[in-house]
Amino acid sequence: MNNRRVHQGHLARKRFGQNFLNDPYIIDHIVSAIHPLPEQAVVEIGPGLGALTEPVAERLDTLTVIELDRDLAARLQTHPFLGPKLTIFQQDAMTFDFAELAAQKGQPLRVFGNLPYNISTPLMFHLFSYTHAIKDMHFMLQKEVVNRLVAGPGSKAYGRLSVMAQYYCQVIPVLEVPPESFTPAPKVDSAVVRLVPHATHPYPVSDIRVLSRITTEAFGKRRKTLRNSLGHLFTLDVLNALGIDPTWRAENIAVAQYCQLANWLATHPEPQEM
Ligand code: SAM
Repeated sequence: MNNRRVHQGHLARKRFGQNFLNDPYIIDHIVSAIHPLPEQAVVEIGPGLGALTEPVAERLDTLTVIELDRDLAARLQTHPFLGPKLTIFQQDAMTFDFAELAAQKGQPLRVFGNLPYNISTPLMFHLFSYTHAIKDMHFMLQKEVVNRLVAGPGSKAYGRLSVMAQYYCQVIPVLEVPPESFTPAPKVDSAVVRLVPHATHPYPVSDIRVLSRITTEAFGKRRKTLRNSLGHLFTLDVLNALGIDPTWRAENIAVAQYCQLANWLATHPEPQEM
């Protein structure tokens, strides 16, 4: 057994992305950024050994947690001070129905977590589908993922995750966190991000599946010009009419323009010849 992977008597499981926060300064900073208030419906994804759970729960009467690791869920259940405050779901957050919980609580959720990095991107997409039931989210992620979330057109980090995240949310970087703030230390730098779902979408789309498809196809061929990557969906005339230069690449198109493309395609579903 490698002792560096044992924290508070628990052997960290790599398959569950377990890197436990050990730095009181960072923990304090994250809890202040979340700023939980007693009457709010707060949910933690992956509480682990409770590094964030304890200080957040101190400010609340009840806290909902979703933890996949059965041993850790059991440990939280018997925690002397946390146990009575927690509602524990021992399940995969990827299958959790956040809308149902918000309906039970009668208010939108405040979701936070030091996420397992191996599933952070699909988990964010799962959460985006519940943004109507979420007030805000604070997540620790790989710094590289936070860079992608906040990136704008023209940057190398700008991709499908940037467009979809910014379609759903205002994205605000909060804090950078070095590897040594965790046990065991991950191989990458980390960062905390705040995601606030738009109360009113700045660029509403009529069918989100169309936006999802266009961004998948455009960034799937990000080195090609749009006339090549999206030419099977939009004629040159249509691109020009929408103010989009067909010689641009996926990374040059702003979120608002992707939304325009999606709304056009939703009302003209037949493939167009270039
Ligand atoms: N919050 C703790 C901390 O900051 O020290 C632990 C964070 S650790 C990076 C990720 C946590 O998510 C672990 O407790 C892990 O067991 C849990 N986890 C991993 N996959 C999960 C999933 N699919 N659903 C819910 N929890 C998961």
